[in-house]
Amino acid sequence: MDSSDVLRVAGLERESIVDGPGVRFTVFAQGCPHACPGCHNPQTHPPEGGEPMDIHGIFRNMAQNPLLRGVTFSGGEPFMQAKPLARLGEMAHGIHLDVVTYSGYTYEQILEGATPQNGWGDLLAQTDWLIDGPFLIGQKSLDLAFRGSRNQRIIDVAASAKEGRAVEIQGFSPRRRGRAPAGK
Ligand code: SF4
Repeated sequence: MDSSDVLRVAGLERESIVDGPGVRFTVFAQGCPHACPGCHNPQTHPPEGGEPMDIHGIFRNMAQNPLLRGVTFSGGEPFMQAKPLARLGEMAHGIHLDVVTYSGYTYEQILEGATPQNGWGDLLAQTDWLIDGPFLIGQKSLDLAFRGSRNQRIIDVAASAKEGRAVEIQGFSPRRRGRAPAGK
C-alpha cells in the first residue's frame, strides 16, 4: 500500500444522519491542532493516535452501501491529512456521493494556507460543502443543524470559487443526481 493512501482514523460511522444531508459515511480523521475549549473529542487531538487505515479499504466499505447520499470528513482536523482525504473524496465523487468536510479552519484560512505540499487545495476541490471554523463555546447553540456554535458556516465550495468569496448556505440542496467527479 502506497503511504499516501494511509489515513490515521479516529473512528468511522457507517450510517450517520447527523453529519450532513441524508445518510452518510463519516470518517473521523485523527489529529487536531485547534484545542477548542469544550471540545467533545479530545481523544482525536494527538496526530499519532487513532488507527492507520488504507483509504481503498474505507472506500470499499462505503461503496457497498446503496443507502448513502454522501461522505463526511470530520475530526479531529481533516486538513491535517488533506492529501489522503482528497483522494478518498475523489473516489466518493466517482460513485456519485457528495462530500461534506468539517474544519476548525475558516474557508479564508484554508485558501491562504494552501500549498502544493499540504494538499489543502486538493481537499477543498473535493469538498461540496465545507462546515468551517472552530467550536467556540461562547457561541454554542443546540439549535443549529450540523454545527456546534454560531460562528460555524455551511459553505458551498463551488459557488464560493466562482464568486471569489465564501458563499454561505442555510440548508443543503437536494441530492445532486448524476454528479460528475469534482474538477471534471
Ligand atoms: S476543531 Fe473540532 S476536534 Fe479540534 S479541538 Fe476544535 S472541536 Fe475539537
